[in-house]
Amino acid sequence: MVNYPVLVLNQSYEPLNICRARRAITLIFYGKAEMVEDGTGYVHTTAAVFPLPSVIRLHHMVRRPRTEPKLTRFEVFNRDQFTCQYCGRQTRQLTLDHVVPRHLGGEHTWENLASACVTCNHRKAGRTPDQARMKLHRAPARPRYKIMFNMPYQYLQTHHQWHKYLPQ
Ligand SMILES: [Zn+2]
Repeated sequence: MVNYPVLVLNQSYEPLNICRARRAITLIFYGKAEMVEDGTGYVHTTAAVFPLPSVIRLHHMVRRPRTEPKLTRFEVFNRDQFTCQYCGRQTRQLTLDHVVPRHLGGEHTWENLASACVTCNHRKAGRTPDQARMKLHRAPARPRYKIMFNMPYQYLQTHHQWHKYLPQ
């Protein structure tokens, strides 16, 4: 029972991690967390009996590390799924295209960088897509933050009380 998995929520109710019931009960006992979903059953210690928590919420906010990828060639290609944004060809031989070229004031930003194959890069040749009459498949954008919390799949089947706290 003390090894029973417990979902830990941040103060904001966002899921943070999974801990063991033993740890969860300790956090509740010291007033650092509260139980928001009851598990089934009780944990017996030599001194007392505690209801088994299924979901707890911390009373303080835990800052999560930012996971925004750095703006690098690889991360732009990765965002574009290694696909040329002009012809749609998937290739490892990509170049980094400034959609609005730098000499025309284009910035080195997520929104102005796209993956282009060598052929398309040559064809575009320092022009804007409009000038080159080439169309981007998708407007380049800053990649979304990845969610740090990866729910191990096996828990989804058995812990129905957790579902409403997890991202879809
Ligand atoms: Zn191409």
